[in-house]
Amino acid sequence: MIVVDEEHENSYKQQNPDPRYNARDIAIVLATIHKCKIILGSATPSVESYYNADSGKYHLVELGERYGKVELPKIQIVDIKDGYRRKIMKSHFHPVLYQAIEEALNNNEQVVLFQNRRGYAPYLECKDCGWVPQCDNCNVSMTYHKYGNQLVCHYCTDKKHIYYRCESCGSTNLTTKGLGTEQIVDEVYELFPTARVTRLDQDSAGSRKRFEKIIKDFENHNTDIIVGTQMVTKGLDFENLTLVGILNADNMLNFPDFRAFERSFQLLSQVSGRAGRRQKQGKVIVQTYTTNHLILKQVLENDFDGMFRSQLPERKAFKYPPYWNFIIIRLRNKDKQKLYKTANLLAENLRKDLYQRVLGPEEPLVNMVKRYFLLNIHIRFEKKISSIKIKKLIIDNLQQIAENKELASTKYEIDVDPL
Ligand SMILES: [Zn+2]
Ligand SMILES: [Zn+2]
Repeated sequence: MIVVDEEHENSYKQQNPDPRYNARDIAIVLATIHKCKIILGSATPSVESYYNADSGKYHLVELGERYGKVELPKIQIVDIKDGYRRKIMKSHFHPVLYQAIEEALNNNEQVVLFQNRRGYAPYLECKDCGWVPQCDNCNVSMTYHKYGNQLVCHYCTDKKHIYYRCESCGSTNLTTKGLGTEQIVDEVYELFPTARVTRLDQDSAGSRKRFEKIIKDFENHNTDIIVGTQMVTKGLDFENLTLVGILNADNMLNFPDFRAFERSFQLLSQVSGRAGRRQKQGKVIVQTYTTNHLILKQVLENDFDGMFRSQLPERKAFKYPPYWNFIIIRLRNKDKQKLYKTANLLAENLRKDLYQRVLGPEEPLVNMVKRYFLLNIHIRFEKKISSIKIKKLIIDNLQQIAENKELASTKYEIDVDPL
C-alpha cells in the first residue's frame, strides 16, 4: 500500500528542473502499475482529489473526529480596516490579537504568528516621487531585508546595498511598504520586550539543521513566539502552543491565481490546526481588511465541503482543473523580438489543431527574470481529448521551431498540471 499524506501539499510538485511531476500523481500511476492500494490523506484535500472522490472515481473515507478528540480551535476574524480607522492598532497588531498574545505569555503558553512574506518589507518606496528599487535582472521590485541591511531579489537572489537616497529624485524620504516576517519580529520585541522571539522562514531556516534547531528550541520552550511563513504550517505539533495569529489574510486571498481561494483555505485551516492540543482549546485570530470574505467564513466554520462546492462553478466557467487539463509552455529569450516571434508562431501553429484551446502568448506577472524575457502559452483541453495526442502535437511544433535557425535560441519548458 502507498500512503500519500498531506496530498494537497505544493511541495509534492517538482518545479525545477525537469521533469515537472507531481509525486502524488506519480504515486497513483505507480499503484496502478503494481495493482496495489493507495491512500491520499489530508484534512484539506486539493480540489482535484476531492473532485475525484466526490464523483466516485476515488473512494472517500472521512474521519469524523480529531486525533485525541481535541476540540477545534476557536477562530476569530478581526477587522484591521476598522482598527486603523479608529487608530487603535499597535504597530500591525489589532488590540484583540495583542491582548491574546499578552494573555498567552502570562499563562506561560506559546504563540505562532503567521505572515506569508519574508524579509522586512516587500519593497522600499520614495515618498516624494514613488520610485521603487527594481532588480537589474528581473522586472520586479526588490524586497527590503533589514537583517543584513540589503535589498534582495526573490527571483534571482541578486542583492543590492540599501539606498539612502532616491535614485530618481534624490530625496532621502524613503519608506518601506508592506509587511514581512523581519518587521513583525521587530514589532514583537517592542510590544513584548520580555518575550523570546524567533523567526521561521527561508532566510532563517534555509538548511535542515537550522530548521530543526528552531523547532527544537520551540518544543523545549526556549522560545515563546515563532514568527513564520508557511513553513510553520507543515504538520508541526507543539503541546504548549495555544494561540495562532494571522497578521494579514488578504495578501493570500488577493493573489492572482485560480487556486488562490483554495490555497488560502488550506493554509489558514492548516495553520489554525496548529493551535490547541490535548489539554486546551486553541485560539486563532485572523486579521483582515475583508471580514466578510466567503473563504474566511468557510475557514471559520471549518466548512471544507462549502469551499469545494463554491469553487467548482468558477473552475468550470473559466476552464480550469478539475474539469479541464492544463498545460503551460513557458518561453524565454534575452532577445525580446525573437521571443515574441517564436511565441506567436508557436501559438499560431498550435491553434491550427487546437483552436481556442490555445491562449496567449501572454506575459506573466513578472515578465523578465535573470535578464530573460518571458512569455507563456496556455493550453487547456477537455478531459476526453487524448493527452498523448496533445503531447505529440506540442513536441512536433517545438521541433519545427528548433529547426528554424532564427528562432532556435528561444528556450522553453513545458509544465503539465502547473501549480
Ligand atoms: Zn524620489
Ligand atoms: Zn532579480
